[in-house]
Amino acid sequence: MSRARILVLHPALGPLDYRIPHGMTVEPGSIVVVPIGPRQYAGVVWEPERLPPDKEEIGDNRLRNILAVADTPPIPEPVRRLVEWTADYYLSPLSAVLAMAVRTSAAFEAAPTITEYRATGLVPDRLTPQREQALERIGERQGLVRELATIADVSEGVIRGLCKVGAIEAVIVDTDSPYPLPDPNFAPPELSGEQADAASILRQSVTAEAFQPFLLDGVTGSGKTEVYFEAVAAALASGKQTLVLLPEIALTEPFLTRFAKRFGCEPVAWHSGLRTSQRRRAWRAISRGEAKVVVGARSALFLPYPRLGLIIVDEAHETSFKQEEGVHYHARDVAVMRGRFEGCPVILASATPAIETRHQVELGRYEELKLPGRYGLAELPDIEAIDLIKEPPDRGRWLSPRLILAIDAALERGEQSLLFLNRRGYAPLTLCRHCGHRFQCPNCTAWMVEHRLIRRLSCHHCGHTVPTPEICPECEEPDSLVACGPGVERIADEVAILWPNAKTAIVTSDTLWSPAKAAEFVARMEHGDIDIVVGTQLVTKGYHFPNLTVVGVVDADLGLDGGDLRASERTFQQIMQVSGRAGRGEKPGKVFIQTHSPEAGVMQALISGDSAAFYAAETEARRDAGAPPYGRYAAIIVSSEDKAAAEETARMLGRTAPHREEMHVYGPAPAPLAMLRGRHRFRLLVHARRAFDVQDMIRDWLGALEWSGKVRVAVDVDPYSF
Ligand code: ADP
Ligand code: ZN
Repeated sequence: MSRARILVLHPALGPLDYRIPHGMTVEPGSIVVVPIGPRQYAGVVWEPERLPPDKEEIGDNRLRNILAVADTPPIPEPVRRLVEWTADYYLSPLSAVLAMAVRTSAAFEAAPTITEYRATGLVPDRLTPQREQALERIGERQGLVRELATIADVSEGVIRGLCKVGAIEAVIVDTDSPYPLPDPNFAPPELSGEQADAASILRQSVTAEAFQPFLLDGVTGSGKTEVYFEAVAAALASGKQTLVLLPEIALTEPFLTRFAKRFGCEPVAWHSGLRTSQRRRAWRAISRGEAKVVVGARSALFLPYPRLGLIIVDEAHETSFKQEEGVHYHARDVAVMRGRFEGCPVILASATPAIETRHQVELGRYEELKLPGRYGLAELPDIEAIDLIKEPPDRGRWLSPRLILAIDAALERGEQSLLFLNRRGYAPLTLCRHCGHRFQCPNCTAWMVEHRLIRRLSCHHCGHTVPTPEICPECEEPDSLVACGPGVERIADEVAILWPNAKTAIVTSDTLWSPAKAAEFVARMEHGDIDIVVGTQLVTKGYHFPNLTVVGVVDADLGLDGGDLRASERTFQQIMQVSGRAGRGEKPGKVFIQTHSPEAGVMQALISGDSAAFYAAETEARRDAGAPPYGRYAAIIVSSEDKAAAEETARMLGRTAPHREEMHVYGPAPAPLAMLRGRHRFRLLVHARRAFDVQDMIRDWLGALEWSGKVRVAVDVDPYSF
């Protein structure tokens, strides 16, 4: 009689035991289907000794059978260990973490083909408005009926109807068709001396097949990508797989192109923007070890690569590596753990590493590889502060005279400029000057942001949106609504007034919402179809535009408001990164930082270019406060649609909080976003010494308590901001 313990992909269920029927073979990692009551669920066979026993303790004779095994390789052992570690460290259910590693739809589809649909170009004479809209929005795109219906914003019936009249046709897609193999010797670059030294250490490490984290610490434009590409080449040469994590899917498209120039073909992309067929094809090739290089967003971290030999986290300081929903994990830290379980090197590349990462270097755990200068003839840009008190912009405007002159001159030279403001939309707040009414989101503690291009007010937290009102709903006074403060759209308006003939582009997640849009923006920049870019943090990342020479930071103080733990670090990183876009070619770059506090430490460090001084001061402040990396935090968020219920549970947690010498529990207090998506939120904050086992304490504490089903309690270990 053989039984297996299965981790079922169901958020509320623990491990369950099943019988392995005659003739079926399974091993740890096998993906299976099991019955639960009248329904069927996917699960993964696990080593029984690593899981708690099935609560029901079912005797051999009463066990139910495993129904099927997937036609796909088992989840490799390092992934199983990573799933356990992640669940344990981030206090999340095993099944929730496992769900990130197992794509059941991809695993169970035995047929190698999938049917997609696309427009034939044949347009029937008479079209209903719905069908017309569908054909227009679908354009050249292809996908499942469901996917096309979503793109076109019509029902699936409309798509099927178009099929019947011949306007849309079926296409068979082979999800087993092989990907081309990148060639390590396709177009190797001539490396500079510094680059060659770093590359040779990385190549050796890949060949050694042992765990070793690296910090590839090179200033913007130093050629970090070319250097880690050499490590990729070494992995390819020995038949190993490589994973490259990028912070933003908007960056994948330019990365694919750049990779193809070096290796002769594109790598396999993995991100949330893939169609079902692309996802399935990628998953199958990845799990069989056929996809040699995978580039993706943080979700690519848990995929079942059987022969992983190298992990790269590019722009490793980026905050988007921290997942803020579901399992609250930090992809940078989990990437390092994956490298440990796989026994392979992990390269964290950044011009502005996190304080935590530098600390690991100081402790000798990560090896630092430095590229102190820009590649080739490019120099780091010159950075100046503009004191907004002494050199204010005109009334109702946001750009100061000195910045305007610099952009004038750049336009005259035929060069490009970039204005950075980390705020989407036109204005962050709309109010009535007659009665004082402010437009607030009904679901969140947040103002509604005006988006003038689409004439709507939107909440940036829950997505709630309404048409921009013409009159105040409270006092009904006409012409009384005013926009307060600037967003990128408002800066773009000012640019249009100042330079009516300049070609401008707004770059935010509203305009660059897909990899294709991002690629289009890059092409327009490269062809000189844009003179002035106005953008949010999205433009600070990774881009290389040699003709961009002037950068203006519209409001450098913005990120310092609120004063959370990482405010200075984040401001420093953002402004360094956006400055790094200037002067990357042969023409020198110039950066202007508009600020009300030019004497602040961060601003001084930016102007002098002395990042070592900034890191030293910031590290010292963290040490004094016992903040990470010298101490640790965990946030416990209690939320409910019922405010009283949430508050009561939060109070109960506060009363039962353990007292230990090595830690302190603060709160409960209303969370920074006291209401989010219609849920009221209270927070308790655990602050502990570095060596204290916070997870263990929280498990004991919360595990002994019960609360009403209306209330959700989420734990955020190592919260990013609070
Ligand atoms: P970083 O990622 O460090 O900001 P990049 O890797 O984007 O820098 O390199 C900046 C620019 O310099 C890119 O256009 C890149 O192609 C070029 N470059 C860097 N190293 C080399 C090299 N060894 N040979 C040719 N071009 C290089
Ligand atoms: Zn909202």
